[in-house]
Amino acid sequence: MASEQTAADMFALLSDESRVGILRAVAVAQYEQAPSNAGVAPLSFSEIYERVEIENTSKLSYHLGELVGTYLQKTGDGYAFTHAGEQIVRFILAKNFRRPVDIDSIETEGTCLYCGETRLEAGLDDQYFMVRCPSCDRPVTGYIVTPAQARAHSGAALLESLKRKQATEFGLVQDGICPECAGEIRTDVLDASDQSLSAEVPVSYFTIDECEACLRRYSGPLTYSAAFRTPSIAFYWDRGVDIMGTGWWELHSYLRDGRWTAERIATNPAAYRVELRHEDAVLRLYLDDDARPTRTERVRGRNVD
Ligand SMILES: [Zn+2]
Ligand SMILES: [Zn+2]
Repeated sequence: MASEQTAADMFALLSDESRVGILRAVAVAQYEQAPSNAGVAPLSFSEIYERVEIENTSKLSYHLGELVGTYLQKTGDGYAFTHAGEQIVRFILAKNFRRPVDIDSIETEGTCLYCGETRLEAGLDDQYFMVRCPSCDRPVTGYIVTPAQARAHSGAALLESLKRKQATEFGLVQDGICPECAGEIRTDVLDASDQSLSAEVPVSYFTIDECEACLRRYSGPLTYSAAFRTPSIAFYWDRGVDIMGTGWWELHSYLRDGRWTAERIATNPAAYRVELRHEDAVLRLYLDDDARPTRTERVRGRNVD
């Protein structure tokens, strides 16, 4: 029985420009196909041969043989991508292996959780998008940016793309789905007072969300876990606030001025109550020890103690 292929074997297969060229050619050919409901059609040997710079068919045949099983699959109709092929070719085409372009810092409004400053500066710090506070010189928030993202958008449009991407991904995390690999996310709720979090930061509970498969980790205030749930998104949408288009550095004002709060209401197992306030309306969410809502209710401000 053949032993299982390692990651190193898999990458060794690509240490040849002709093979990378084949993967690109398959992607371009599929892109140029007329859209159909059945998805993309596999490519025949001769269709690939027409598109690559490989001197003869026996060489192409050899390289295709090497790629099949890892990056391509061969069916009766021709060649198509495997999951690994699909992932790697998009990564190559988007040039996400390059460093992100340098961008000038962008002035943006938000709230520094430490000092309350509202005029902030956003910029790229290698593969991270960072919002910094010019008053206390501390990072306000940061998130991964892709080189393709930094190339495609600039200024306000880049900020918008970052807000949307982070919001959508954090929403998936709340549903227990890893945005990177679609594996399972496990969530722990931690008490901020047990952690080395600065006392200036108005966060009582926060979550650590981890993917056991790819080891990607997310973290945020427990109030944000509650805010990126459908009932909260709808509650704010009805009041003219688009949570999914709001950056974390902008959400910080809700924590700073006490409109968003979280408290523990039970132990063993722990349970939490999060309140999200908007003018005289309040959305109350009851969360279990995995930060999943068990119940939500909309209440008028006057009934809130
Ligand atoms: Zn500050
Ligand atoms: Zn993952």
